[in-house]
Amino acid sequence: MGYSKFRRTKNRANLIAFSISGTKSKLIYRIKKIIMNVPKIVFRYSWIYDQNCKEWARISKKDIKSYPSSRKIVNYIKSVEKMWNKISGKILHELSKVTSLKWKSKIIHCYVVGKCVPFSDPLTLPLYEKKDYFIDVLIHELIHQLFSQNWKETRKAWKYIQRKYKNESHETQIHIPLHAVHSHIYMKFFNVERLERDFKAVSKIPDYRKSWEIVKRKGYEKIMQEFVRRI
Ligand SMILES: [Zn+2]
Repeated sequence: MGYSKFRRTKNRANLIAFSISGTKSKLIYRIKKIIMNVPKIVFRYSWIYDQNCKEWARISKKDIKSYPSSRKIVNYIKSVEKMWNKISGKILHELSKVTSLKWKSKIIHCYVVGKCVPFSDPLTLPLYEKKDYFIDVLIHELIHQLFSQNWKETRKAWKYIQRKYKNESHETQIHIPLHAVHSHIYMKFFNVERLERDFKAVSKIPDYRKSWEIVKRKGYEKIMQEFVRRI
């Protein structure tokens, strides 16, 4: 075989090897996506939405002078996005696995504003000084999202919670399974200190405090089991 023919053959072999590995990686990506089937959380800044939040903050007599600037929010988004992207796959997958509920949307937009009370739909979070706390609040709101995306599937389980904790407020009731699932996430991927920080931070709100106390007393595994068994 002449040198040039050898080189051509070698090049072709490389090309085939390359296309096989390309197909393989595409295939692995597709399999991963099918197995994981988790949504992408897309962080957004909306100036008009943020202005409305600023107005609500003013009406509810919050400190407006310290309201973060657009630039600060946009930079904050960039940095929490990086933190979140490292762990998002395993967290979203685990939430689905442990509750036996499917994520029903491919994309969830998460609006980040200067100040507000966080809520799950449209998913909206304010800036928190500690960025890992932002991640914890995001997971809390995503558990709400997963439950509300599966309201049909969870109907029986919620009826059971309402019956079992009939003397508790609605807010306490809905946060009992939620804090149980979140405890599992804290213990599997983070640590007990993060869980305790969450407990302390929401303890100012009596309904939230009560639900955490119930979860701690009964044990999160037991509450999760009782809830998931009825899905
Ligand atoms: Zn909540």
